[in-house]
Amino acid sequence: MRLRLAVIPGDGIGPEIVREARKVLNRVAQLYGHQIEATQVLMGGASIDACGEPLTDEALEVIRQQDAILMGSVGGNPATSPWYQLPPQKRPEAALLRLRKEMGLFANLRPAYLYKELRSACPLRDEIIGDGFDMMIMRELTGGLYFGQRKTEEIDGVMTAVDTLTYNEMEIRRIAKRAFDIAMKRRKKVCSVDKANVLDSSRLWRKVVEEVAKDYPEVSWEHMLVDNCAMQLVKDPRQFDVILTENMFGDILSDEASMVTGSIGMLSSASLNDTKFGLYEPSGGSAPDIAGKDLANPIATILSAAMMLRYTFDLDQEAAAVEAAVQQVLTEGYRTGDIMAEGCTQVGTVAMGDLITERIRG
Ligand code: NAD
Repeated sequence: MRLRLAVIPGDGIGPEIVREARKVLNRVAQLYGHQIEATQVLMGGASIDACGEPLTDEALEVIRQQDAILMGSVGGNPATSPWYQLPPQKRPEAALLRLRKEMGLFANLRPAYLYKELRSACPLRDEIIGDGFDMMIMRELTGGLYFGQRKTEEIDGVMTAVDTLTYNEMEIRRIAKRAFDIAMKRRKKVCSVDKANVLDSSRLWRKVVEEVAKDYPEVSWEHMLVDNCAMQLVKDPRQFDVILTENMFGDILSDEASMVTGSIGMLSSASLNDTKFGLYEPSGGSAPDIAGKDLANPIATILSAAMMLRYTFDLDQEAAAVEAAVQQVLTEGYRTGDIMAEGCTQVGTVAMGDLITERIRG
């Protein structure tokens, strides 16, 4: 298969972690007979330095010609970087918002997977963790409270602020379908999270999710109120497979779920539109404090590349081969500094990438 990729190394540790993910992808392509056509694209601070803006129209045009984006992260240290002297719409992170909008990336996926080798980093008790957990948070990314009309005004001498939470049935249907599609590739369970006891938007959410569920008879599903879900995530995280939810609830729940899995260096993510196109990037930022020191953990980016194989290219076997190689390296006791534990062998970014690449089986 031909895999056309826009590769955005970005800033800080971005180029280091993307380089390791590309090593892994190249090995997969070699073993499974695929051709990777990678086009490097500037974004964030790197693009500001070269072109004067964080994402140019030309860069966007190149991205549109590809099947997927593999990205590191963008941004610098806001306290010291000259990029943050610029107006907000010219700063590195503005590029991300524009990219999401232009490419219609409405579905954000964040896996929360606890490797048994990293269970000491999990703040939950052993009897709650059990054999570990493996869930996927599917968050709507372009609607809801964060994109609704807002205003702050003085009414009868009292300052008053209004934010609007709007969803239409089309927006709910497309994300619900995505969640059920992804559940079909996993353990076939969806938990749709809302606040239907209070919000009209949640009642519409429930109705549309129920309609979509009818097309997926193999998937078992339930509704859950968001306050209950926040509790269940720390009480019994093993019950979840795919959690489907709207923008703000997803923002909060995905951070809660990722907290219980340990280091930010392990957390992959994907943002998808209604074609197979996706943006794949680690959940963490550009970590300027450790950039250029061979200290960054490349695993989140490597696991994001595995998500790309699975969700954009439907290469499930290849994705599983990458995930198995990561698992093997952890089982053998290799760790980057952020996940280092007693009795393990500490390695740098490049060595971790090499170890994973060598363990990919065809
Ligand atoms: P950060 O995620 O970059 O760093 C937080 C902490 O986690 C730091 O101590 C860092 O060293 C550590 N860390 C992050 N990734 C790591 C990895 N792969 N391996 C080992 N340790 C890792 O968050 P921050 O410091 O708040 O932000 C730094 C910059 O990144 C800012 O400019 C911010 O705007 C940007 N940012 C970008 C994205 C993105 O591109 N999607 C996301 C978040 C933050």
